[in-house]
Amino acid sequence: MGSILVEDGLLITMDGRRRVIRNGSVMIEDGRIIDVGPADAIGGRYAPETKMDARGKLVLPGLVDTHIHLAQAMIRGCADDLSLVEWLQHRVWPLQGNYSAEDGRISSELCMLEMIKSGTTTFLESGLHTRYGFDGVAEALQKSGMRGVLSKMVMDGSGYGTKSGILHEGMVEDGDACLKEFRAMSSKWNGSAGGRVGVWLAARSLGAVSKELYEEIGRLGREYKTGVTMHLCEVQEDLAYAKKNHGCTPVEFADRVGLLGPNVVFAHMVWAGDGDIRLLASSGSNVAHCPASNSKLASGIAKVYEMLREGVNVGLGCDGAPCNNTYDMVREMRLACLFQKARLLDPGALPATSALEMATLNGAKALGMQDQIGSIEAGKKADIILVDALTPHSTPSYDPVSSFVYSGTGGDVSSVIVDGKIVMEERVVKTMDEDRILREAATNGRRVMERAGIKVAPSWSGREGA
Ligand SMILES: [Zn+2]
Repeated sequence: MGSILVEDGLLITMDGRRRVIRNGSVMIEDGRIIDVGPADAIGGRYAPETKMDARGKLVLPGLVDTHIHLAQAMIRGCADDLSLVEWLQHRVWPLQGNYSAEDGRISSELCMLEMIKSGTTTFLESGLHTRYGFDGVAEALQKSGMRGVLSKMVMDGSGYGTKSGILHEGMVEDGDACLKEFRAMSSKWNGSAGGRVGVWLAARSLGAVSKELYEEIGRLGREYKTGVTMHLCEVQEDLAYAKKNHGCTPVEFADRVGLLGPNVVFAHMVWAGDGDIRLLASSGSNVAHCPASNSKLASGIAKVYEMLREGVNVGLGCDGAPCNNTYDMVREMRLACLFQKARLLDPGALPATSALEMATLNGAKALGMQDQIGSIEAGKKADIILVDALTPHSTPSYDPVSSFVYSGTGGDVSSVIVDGKIVMEERVVKTMDEDRILREAATNGRRVMERAGIKVAPSWSGREGA
């Protein structure tokens, strides 16, 4: 598989001691990190096939995005300035309900391209509908060189919260068919590409799944020793639904149907109460915090400070292109910090160091990969990013973590290594045809809009007198 020496950079290792090594090098062999330390010491020890010059660069573990929608990359900008239910019912569902498998594949490629170019090396896809074409998405993931978990959406209803029958007809699926597809995709793809591709279950939101099916999802997750992900407590509507139908909170309901545990990632958790947070902590459940999405859709601001204080493992997620509108984890870290400070009137509520832990170590733990990724340490898989530190917005830099989180963007990421292979070098993605993907996304995006009968006009026409 080859060997790479990442030479003479500023290493932010995220190891147990949180070592930051100036003039540090990382030696990679056969997909794994075999040595980390001062450049002088490491350089003389090995004869690498490839050397990557990291002078003037930060060297960090690849970022882990714990909540994304691959199929939404192609419908970016189609639903700005709307609330969640309007956004879903009138824009996102009709568009996604008109997707073909080709659209699913192209949108996924676009999303992966954007993630690679902003330093994300591992992601959790939050639920693929059958119509997006699981095989095409999995093949795209394999080729991209990224590490990712693809979840099969499971549902047997068409509601959302207390509103029944509002899901677009093109999105509705049968419960047994969903489980059958999960089993087939799991045996075909889980663990493929040398372990880079994982297959999980996604439980659709409250209102679209029966109690029995939620129980079956929890049981299957344990049987397959795999993960489950679900949107929960995203909006107040979730609280109303759980109270009306089950007389409890959404988290208590998840507990009753066997959906709490270390193999579960709940996206959002904006409206989790104190008791819910304690349940999440005691069960070892994980949370994907999505600050951009939660604020853009006016859903609220999650109690991240309280969740971390109580011991809940919280990662970060970019959610979807229509609600973020980027898949840039660097910007997401910044927002996570700023929102907690503003919410609690406390500048220490979420420091830059915590945000970087959320985007690396916590994300790895949420995906059950904490022994494999999330830090730069000998023995771990070589998922590493190089970040240009010689930019106007990060010079001078007195604290590299602060600079990266508060001043950086994903566009500062110059090179990306996943599983010991160079996926991007000096902004050129080596595993994907960027020109083709942009061209196909533009064409197919327009076609999906036409099929769904949705028109998005510019807010300002610019015409005189208009
Ligand atoms: Zn989502």
